[in-house]
Amino acid sequence: MLKIKAINGVKDILPAEIMYWQKIEKTACDIFRRFGIHEIRLPILEKTELFTRSIGETTDIVEKEMYTFVDKKITMRPEITASLLRAYVEHSLHLQQPVQRLFSIGPVFRHERPQKGRQRQFHQIDVEIIGAHEPQVDAELMAMGQMLFNALSLDVRLEINSLGCPACRPGFRNKLIAYLQACSDSLCDDCKRRTAKNPLRALDCKKQGCKAAVEHAPSILDNLCSACEEHFSAVQQQLDLFEVSYNVNRFMVRGLDYYNRTTFEFLTADLGAQAAVAAGGRYDGLVEQLGGPKKTPGIGFALGMERLFLLMQQQKKQQDQPKGQGGADIFLAALGEQAIRFASPLVHQLRHLGLQAVMDYSNRSLKAQMKQAGRCHADFTLIIGEQEIEQGRGILRNMNTQEQTEFSFNRGAAALAEVIT
Ligand code: ATP
Ligand code: MG
Repeated sequence: MLKIKAINGVKDILPAEIMYWQKIEKTACDIFRRFGIHEIRLPILEKTELFTRSIGETTDIVEKEMYTFVDKKITMRPEITASLLRAYVEHSLHLQQPVQRLFSIGPVFRHERPQKGRQRQFHQIDVEIIGAHEPQVDAELMAMGQMLFNALSLDVRLEINSLGCPACRPGFRNKLIAYLQACSDSLCDDCKRRTAKNPLRALDCKKQGCKAAVEHAPSILDNLCSACEEHFSAVQQQLDLFEVSYNVNRFMVRGLDYYNRTTFEFLTADLGAQAAVAAGGRYDGLVEQLGGPKKTPGIGFALGMERLFLLMQQQKKQQDQPKGQGGADIFLAALGEQAIRFASPLVHQLRHLGLQAVMDYSNRSLKAQMKQAGRCHADFTLIIGEQEIEQGRGILRNMNTQEQTEFSFNRGAAALAEVIT
């Protein structure tokens, strides 16, 4: 029989890896709590229009990466921001609290070429602060991201840029188009095609020719209006106050249309081309564009959990290795049908008491069961055969010291729990 395998670009997260994922989630939730950021859970399926309207028709994601049920006009979310804002608008969350600070964790889907750090189903931790326009909030979000990486003992660097706003970007865009047209021969086909519709994308094209061509392109930072310039310098001052280090990178434009003003990325040198571990920015027009209250500002970022996981494995520091759920507290080795009947309610009671208690119902030999106890790293094994039941006491073996004592069954599960913990 031919084995059925998982489809290309998706991955199982195995029990031996799960402690990393749990550590990431636990650490993130703890840090979000300190910043007053609350969880929201969102559906994976959304109307296709949500993403075309927000992310933008000429972006890579919408042009070629979405998993869409064409007949139903439904798409498996390629990111979380749009869904979260849809929920914000749909439930008028601004009425409950003018500034909403929310996070959501879960899978997202993009049809791109699978490789290390790039999957077709991957997981994001997404954070959004909706309703605040102050530059301090931008810096606070980045400082929080940095705190999370520090808590996970990961080395990353922060890069920031400003993309201007509807007042200053069009002027810059025209200058850039003129520049790109003049050097069109050195651009890749994608960038040639994008010049008219989405010229900013040429600035972060990874192709060597384009990189060289845009080296002397006009800089957005020289073309900001005074409001955007003030905002950007206030963000930097606040980052300094938070003692978060960063570099300004005028070539960072991010691949989604909805960004304005501040954009930022946390990057690593350890994952090859998949350098971005988290990325985000401000999207002050998006809530309104999705039918929400006018002039609602917002800012957020998404963190790629697979890349975090790879980094944790790569930048391994022994003392920071997450622990699994640990071995069993006790293994009950029941020998014979009668012993199985006797032991099974005892196991159940121990679990009621909060212990990890394990037994096997297949009536295997003592040797096999002792092996099994070893495999589940049990601290103790209680051996129960017909003779033990008759005498009213089992043999309790400390698996670490190999010491054996007797345990009288009439003392009950609670006493047993006490003896072994
Ligand atoms: P990239 O430049 O690597 O394609 P992106 O700009 O498409 O990233 P975003 O849309 O900003 O990424 O998503 C936020 C984060 O999600 C990224 O910084 C990255 O860590 C992660 N990510 C994006 N695409 C993938 C993918 N295909 N597989 C795994 N993680 C991903
Ligand atoms: Mg991408």
